[in-house]
Amino acid sequence: MQALISVSDKTGVLDFARELNALGVKLLSTGGTAKLLADAGLPVTEVADHTGFPEMLDGRVKTLHPTIHGGLLARRDLPEHVAAIQKHNIAPIDILCVNLYPFEATVAKPGCTLEDAIENIDIGGPAMVRSAAKNWKDVAVLTDASQYAQVIAELKANKAVSKETKFALSVAAFNRISNYDAAISDYLSSLQADGSRTEYPAQSNGRFVKLQDLRYGENPHQTAAYYRDLHPAPGSLVTGKQLQGKELSYNNIADADAAWECVKSFDTPACVIVKHANPCGVALGANAAEAYAKALKTDPTSAFGGIIAFNTEVDATTAEHATKLFMEVLIAPSFTSDALAIFAAKKNVRVLQIALPKGGATAWEQGRNAQDVKRIGSGLLIQSADNHELKLSDLKVVTKTKPTKQQLEDMLFAWTVAKYVKSNAIVFCAGGMTLGVGAGQMSRLDSARIAGIKAEAAGLSLKGSAVASDAFFPFRDTLDELVKAGATSVIHPGGSVRDEEVIGAANEHGIAMVLTGVRHFRH
Ligand code: 5GP
Repeated sequence: MQALISVSDKTGVLDFARELNALGVKLLSTGGTAKLLADAGLPVTEVADHTGFPEMLDGRVKTLHPTIHGGLLARRDLPEHVAAIQKHNIAPIDILCVNLYPFEATVAKPGCTLEDAIENIDIGGPAMVRSAAKNWKDVAVLTDASQYAQVIAELKANKAVSKETKFALSVAAFNRISNYDAAISDYLSSLQADGSRTEYPAQSNGRFVKLQDLRYGENPHQTAAYYRDLHPAPGSLVTGKQLQGKELSYNNIADADAAWECVKSFDTPACVIVKHANPCGVALGANAAEAYAKALKTDPTSAFGGIIAFNTEVDATTAEHATKLFMEVLIAPSFTSDALAIFAAKKNVRVLQIALPKGGATAWEQGRNAQDVKRIGSGLLIQSADNHELKLSDLKVVTKTKPTKQQLEDMLFAWTVAKYVKSNAIVFCAGGMTLGVGAGQMSRLDSARIAGIKAEAAGLSLKGSAVASDAFFPFRDTLDELVKAGATSVIHPGGSVRDEEVIGAANEHGIAMVLTGVRHFRH
């Protein structure tokens, strides 16, 4: 029996080769691997000596030779195949152990150049793996160190590897090659010929890298894992670092993402508190502490057990206030050392640090997500992410009453928050804070009512407030409800067949109304 071993990741390979040698298997190997085995005193033949052709072109050509591929591909059950390899003096190879140049790890390194990446595209390795995997009935192909033990155990017990194991190894091998090629194709499609990045790298075929298995999914009986894009946008949740606290759960991650995406959209210090994927308090402030205090006021009841995100440094004062509340996760781009000391005393609090995107020419560099994916039964929906940002010049004032500067500011703030609230979304705001959030109702009227009820429960007055609605008003009833609650300015997309009726109602009430022309459904 003959084995060819050619591995980049040498973990466990020496023990594996030792066992093969003890079982009387002849060892063939490429340069680096052969040296490792020989240095350990194992009898090994270099592939170059075996084929009579030297490794060349900096290792680009090592095993690409008929002596190797003939030995891997010849069917032992076909006399013509056996005769053909005998005629050319080719010895069959029965075991192939290969792991590939570390392409994925190379491109994951910051500052990796196109040239580094190209040199880490393995050619001969995948070619051998394919040959062996195709001829699986005759060749056992190992592509991962986790497979070594079972093959050795079977060889020891039966002097052969079972058909079932060889088939499973072949499937795993094709799987590995397909992932490897996808990583290459993703990486290259993220670049232009001069090495600069495309607008959205790696969205071509959506490859993901597993970050961790999760203890469970949305519910304890569901299994789950956490993945990131091959090239995550700077400033996205997946690029963050957990500084302390228990492991993140599935729901923690989903809610942390909602909080972080929302807080990231403000240019001045802001705080967002999220519960069950919806913001239950959003506020701007002179600093983190003020923003937190205001955000908490919106709905202190719901904030219990929530996720708190800041787009600015968290200091000791903020940390002290925030740790008074029971919270699951706290996120910020940076922390003072005093703040970290306060969190350290609360072992269970998960603290995440995520750098804000630094900006740049492409949407990706600016931290905008490329795609939004929703899984449905046996299928999926893919759309470009809702990256629309409203410009002042897009707004159309449609009422006799024109909004004041303050009302305009409040409406724009409310509009930004509404984008992150599940539909139907109604958000009351004033003075850079949310006053009442109505989320996820099947009727817009109910969302409006709920927002009003919540504001009252929190002891907040809606008199003179601004309201954002994520989509148009199908009837005037919701508008009447908002005005009854105290709103004096309303921002919404417009576009309903009853716009005239709704604008008429706004004029009747003497409030200001502006239309955005875009909507922000979020389901
Ligand atoms: P070694 O460290 O033994 O010199 O090289 C092992 C690596 O070389 C393995 O990752 C294997 O997949 C790769 N390899 C084997 N044959 C060839 C070849 O002909 N061309 C290229 N580019 N890589 C090869």
